Amino acid sequence: MRVHNFAAGPAALPLEVLERAQSELTDFNGLGMSVMEISHRSKDFVAVASESEALLRELLGVPEGYTVLFLQGGATGQFAAIPMNLTASGASADYLNTGSWSKKAIAEAGKYVQVNVLADEKASNYSTTPAAESISVSPGAAYLHYTANETIGGVEFGYVPETGDVPLVADFSSTIMSRPIDVSKFGLIYAGAQKNLGPSGITVVIVRDDLVGTARPETPSVLDYAAMGGADSMLNTPPTFGWYLLGLNLEWIRDNGGLTGMAERNERKARTLYDAIDTLDFYSNPVEPGSRSWMNVPFLLANADLDKEFLAQADAAGLTNLAGHRSVGGMRASIYNATSQESVEALVDFLKEFERTHA
Ligand code: PMP
Repeated sequence: MRVHNFAAGPAALPLEVLERAQSELTDFNGLGMSVMEISHRSKDFVAVASESEALLRELLGVPEGYTVLFLQGGATGQFAAIPMNLTASGASADYLNTGSWSKKAIAEAGKYVQVNVLADEKASNYSTTPAAESISVSPGAAYLHYTANETIGGVEFGYVPETGDVPLVADFSSTIMSRPIDVSKFGLIYAGAQKNLGPSGITVVIVRDDLVGTARPETPSVLDYAAMGGADSMLNTPPTFGWYLLGLNLEWIRDNGGLTGMAERNERKARTLYDAIDTLDFYSNPVEPGSRSWMNVPFLLANADLDKEFLAQADAAGLTNLAGHRSVGGMRASIYNATSQESVEALVDFLKEFERTHA
């Protein structure tokens, strides 16, 4: 039996994707071997790699003039790779601080560049995004970095920051493929796969070509966009199984209405859950309504002494992985693409029942 899985990442994958992988597990393409057991340079794997890249480009509408990379090291690796690739020693870069993942990106970048924190949402306890008109890039900044969706805080930008000629760099780890975006506004988009793209172990970077080829000489080759791009992300052995699953997941997105289909599905799920949290007295979501995430919905119980019991009863009802991040406590329901409306409705029914029996 499959549970209602609200994990923040690694997160639920569509059942159809898992079943397809299962059906091909021991014999991929009639080879008598699994996709994990063949060379990344074989014709069959190279087809997996190029088809998944083509589909990602099609679904996201990646314009000409962008390189798509499939890397290792997670989004965390990119926290370092971005300043290493986009700046020379002594440069400065702008960062927006909207919560936990922004802070990590800022700390890592600080090893390589002078970081200007243009906006810091501390005053609202990171429950807001900065006003669009308040963002004005610093003179000489090499790029502006922001976290499109804060996975822990449940804060998502409802707009794309305006940076003029300064390249815009965005961490889309927990919101990529959840709705259409205009890639042409960005210099670089990156995302760890383990929420909306596939399993952990693979990281997607979409980078405008003028930002490729400018890496510092000491940049490790596996993090160097020009070196990896020139080798079709196969300078070394890529995570082949994860790449394959990512491809299957993209096919599922395509077959379910593409990013417009995902947006409709995700908007409806988010509305269902926020409406319940706002309507019921026993639960609250701390995020300013205009900055609420479609993907990660943190919430608090009116009585935190009941947190453990809530989680135990939810688990028993087949609703799993609802504990908030260990740094903030409370609850969090992550409702990525693969989470169904039915799962969200099961959660809402549970919220009502728990309130009825405990408030
Ligand atoms: N950025 C965001 C927004 C994230 O949610 C995460 C992971 N939860 C990371 C970065 C770090 O990703 P990774 O674990 O792939 O390094």
